[in-house]
Amino acid sequence: TPGIRPLVAGNWKMNGTSASLPELRSIGQGFINGLDARTDALVCVPATLLSRAAETVSGTPVHVGGEDCHANQSGAHTGDVSAEMLKDAGASHVIVGHSERRTDHGESDATVHAKAEAAWRAGLVAIICVGETRAQRESGATLDVLSTQVAGSVPSSATAANAVLAYEPVWAIGTGLTPTAADVAEAHAHIREKLAEKLGQAAAAKMRILYGGSVKPSNAVELLGVANVDGALVGGASLKAADFLGIAEAY
Ligand code: PEP
Repeated sequence: TPGIRPLVAGNWKMNGTSASLPELRSIGQGFINGLDARTDALVCVPATLLSRAAETVSGTPVHVGGEDCHANQSGAHTGDVSAEMLKDAGASHVIVGHSERRTDHGESDATVHAKAEAAWRAGLVAIICVGETRAQRESGATLDVLSTQVAGSVPSSATAANAVLAYEPVWAIGTGLTPTAADVAEAHAHIREKLAEKLGQAAAAKMRILYGGSVKPSNAVELLGVANVDGALVGGASLKAADFLGIAEAY
């Protein structure tokens, strides 16, 4: 989108131990060695790795982020991690509303909305995920689903500086399947239109809308070249530096 610097973001999901840090080091090196001129870069890692990941990429243009946060700052929530804790560990961003959280943990749009506000309270950028299931696409409900998710998940105080949207068709995540370029274009244009209704034209025009779902080096040029696609959210292919850098090279 004119005037928007792209963002290529990784999501390691429940993968990665200290043995994975050399891949992250290679990603940092790849951005030092020229990719920084083309796109911003972020890798979201498990909370257990965050502080070491932040050290690993320090001095490079690559940022690190969390994959989820609790809506509260602290308290009796055994096993949960707050946005403030992610910030303290070195995160600049946090993913909220990933479909795996929505499915595995029953997160509603209201939960995602609260988590985005928690991210801002802590000074993090929220990457807010939306996307339809296969059944929803097949029944022709995709645009309605996206409207509902944007209306419910994106707080009205979202700006291009504190939020990034990610369109991730659930059926394309980790499956090797991808929507057609025309379907991606339609979904992204629709999301931007819904953002404009909520936030105003000016804010919506500047907001990054990432595409996510089976992005790899071989399809990145086509998917990232679609109108209103301002970067990628990359799962599986973010675990290997060569693949992640190969995707960023689409820019
Ligand atoms: C994701 O987890 O956000 C994702 C898009 O996964 P993958 O790239 O593996 O489909």
